[in-house]
Amino acid sequence: MGGQLMGANLAVNAKKAPLFVWDTHSIYKAEMEYHMTEHGLDEDAAWERAVGDCNVLTLAWEDLCAWVEDWMNTNDFHHFYTEATNMTWRNFDGAKMFVADTGEDFIRQVVGLDCDYSLSLYERGKPGDDGYHLYGSVRHHDSPAGEGRVVYLVAGCDECAKPIRDGEEHVIEDRWYEGVYCEDCIGRMRDLSECEEA
Ligand SMILES: [Zn+2]
Repeated sequence: MGGQLMGANLAVNAKKAPLFVWDTHSIYKAEMEYHMTEHGLDEDAAWERAVGDCNVLTLAWEDLCAWVEDWMNTNDFHHFYTEATNMTWRNFDGAKMFVADTGEDFIRQVVGLDCDYSLSLYERGKPGDDGYHLYGSVRHHDSPAGEGRVVYLVAGCDECAKPIRDGEEHVIEDRWYEGVYCEDCIGRMRDLSECEEA
């Protein structure tokens, strides 16, 4: 039974659509097709019209940021840990934790580039599932084969809101401090407790 379910999920995953996509070529192509069907332009004229309209990318970018922000707010996701693989021609890997309050901030933190890029992020599981995360790739001129990206959700420190990665969480349970805190805040609280006890 479990095996059958897993097989079914894999089959769905194999052809599922990304949760978030940024791909300027696809955006222009969709706009070109709109001008061809709605205004009867031929392909060349429709393409010229699409790439000549500076609102096309602005509106698409605003839509993407709004979708990401909606996903964050609906699920109360604000603290993240992201890993990048095969970055640039040197193929180095990187990881960082970050806090994002807006969809735009989330994308900029995950992509970490100012150049033209395309981004696809897929969901592994559903929000609330154990191990739920996003995975995908970023392509740009220094990395045409694509860099890997994985984004995990992490806890936030109850005191300073700094993101805390799984395994680095610390819970202090006494009558004054109950919650999840980062190393720095725990240190400060211990110092404070020792002062009060002395
Ligand atoms: Zn803290």
